[in-house]
Amino acid sequence: MTASPHVVVIGAGTLGLCSALHLVEQGARVTVLEGQSIASGSSGRSVGVVGSQFTDPFEIMLRVHALRRFRQWESQGLGFNHIGYLRLARTQKQMELFAKSAEIQEAAGLRSRLYRANELKELVPHIDPEGLEGGLFGPDNGFLDPHEMCTFLAQAVRTQGGEIRQYRKLLGVRRRARGYTLETSGDPIDCDVVVNAAGAWAPQVAELFGQRLHIWPERHEAVVIHLD
Ligand SMILES: Cc1cc2nc3c(=O)[nH]c(=O)nc-3n(C[C@H](O)[C@H](O)[C@H](O)COP(=O)(O)OP(=O)(O)OC[C@H]3O[C@@H](n4cnc5c(N)ncnc54)[C@H](O)[C@@H]3O)c2cc1C
Repeated sequence: MTASPHVVVIGAGTLGLCSALHLVEQGARVTVLEGQSIASGSSGRSVGVVGSQFTDPFEIMLRVHALRRFRQWESQGLGFNHIGYLRLARTQKQMELFAKSAEIQEAAGLRSRLYRANELKELVPHIDPEGLEGGLFGPDNGFLDPHEMCTFLAQAVRTQGGEIRQYRKLLGVRRRARGYTLETSGDPIDCDVVVNAAGAWAPQVAELFGQRLHIWPERHEAVVIHLD
């Protein structure tokens, strides 16, 4: 491997583009290969909610770190709608976990407040608190346009010398003494390292390297419309 390795990232969704950005920032030569177009996978279909109202400490700290990065990107022009995020609790046990979450978030510098059921109307005037114990609200959370985010990240990657090749699917892999030759729907590409960021298709990409990846994609719908 050379001092500045050539890294190929497979997939131009949020994960592939974030990885590509981190790699160019660290001095790697980066090429992103995308079989379709930027954000054509799950990323372009996401609702784009960015929330830290979790109960597992690791999940919370992951969001604390991510929200710091989002703040930096916002200062560089990325849109982020800070409408807050409310998670509801139906049991006292959940409320106890929420109280712990609020403590962890506060210690990490994130605002978060516990609401009792009778206080929820302050946030959502039309809510029916029947059957609810309360909720956990993070005023700094919100949502963004994932398409815009991917375009923003792609631009940042390009500005720092990275290359993004769209409509270039990875089809096969040949191992070299050091690194790989990637067979694509265009010209073959020699590289030192490959990052598999192919989302739901990551197991198929792993298979090209003779690896098994235990990822089982789940179908998600944001809105379901029944047409009569
Ligand atoms: C309806 C819906 C709502 C969601 N809402 C939220 C939300 O509110 N908040 C949240 O955080 N998450 C949400 N998610 C989840 C989120 O969208 C995904 O976790 C995230 O987008 C995954 O990003 P990714 O980069 O791993 O995958 P993807 O965006 O799927 O990117 C993978 C890319 O790899 C490419 N690819 C695959 N195989 C190859 C190949 N052989 N060669 C080249 N390219 C290849 C694909 O074309 C694709 O563009 C939602 C998901 C859905 C479906």
